[in-house]
Amino acid sequence: MNKILIIEDEEAIAQLEKDYLELSGYSVEIESDGAVGLEKALKYPYDLLILDLMLPSLDGFEICQQIRKEKTLPILMVSARKEDIDKIRGLGLGADDYITKPFSPGELVARVKAHLARYDRIVESLMPENAVIKIRGIKIDTQSKEVWVSNEKKSLTSREYDLLEYFVKHPNQVLSKEDIFKELWNTDAIGDITTVAVHVKKLREKIEVDPAKPQYIETVWGMGYRFKV
Ligand code: CA
Repeated sequence: MNKILIIEDEEAIAQLEKDYLELSGYSVEIESDGAVGLEKALKYPYDLLILDLMLPSLDGFEICQQIRKEKTLPILMVSARKEDIDKIRGLGLGADDYITKPFSPGELVARVKAHLARYDRIVESLMPENAVIKIRGIKIDTQSKEVWVSNEKKSLTSREYDLLEYFVKHPNQVLSKEDIFKELWNTDAIGDITTVAVHVKKLREKIEVDPAKPQYIETVWGMGYRFKV
């Protein structure tokens, strides 16, 4: 399920957006404060951000700029004034889309769908066969089977490497423990599915800054894991 963060201080608008997006199958969180919203957007793996322009503590211009330095998720900027939209465009902040209030919830949902689909295609096009894969600070040489995280070389066992390569070649997809087990252990006579969680834990300890709050390999409760891009 795609996760969306709405940074919006007008409660009624935020709630309306949330209701419609949830009806369309998205998981949605609302944050009303600009600075807190920025912190959340940087810390957690959202798939898309809906960003109001005028916000308490930090405005949408600044938030958009800060996020673009670190993340590639789609950002939809929302403003009540047409002039603001023109200004955002002019500044080239890297927002993916601009919507003027008031807008119909149906239009918002349609745009969200389109941007999520477009990002999935971009991610797929970044996946060359038999080459070096670079994805959010992780670099993998699929021929020498070497891995770097933030330019620091990591020493992975061959099973951990296989697991990581499987994840990065299926970005943003939920992979069940069964999928992973079949992919990595199908030729083994021994072993059972609990070994998947053990290896995910070991891999997180090597690639995540804080394995307790993973930025790459996310647990999708009751379903499995997802490598976030
Ligand atoms: Ca506002």
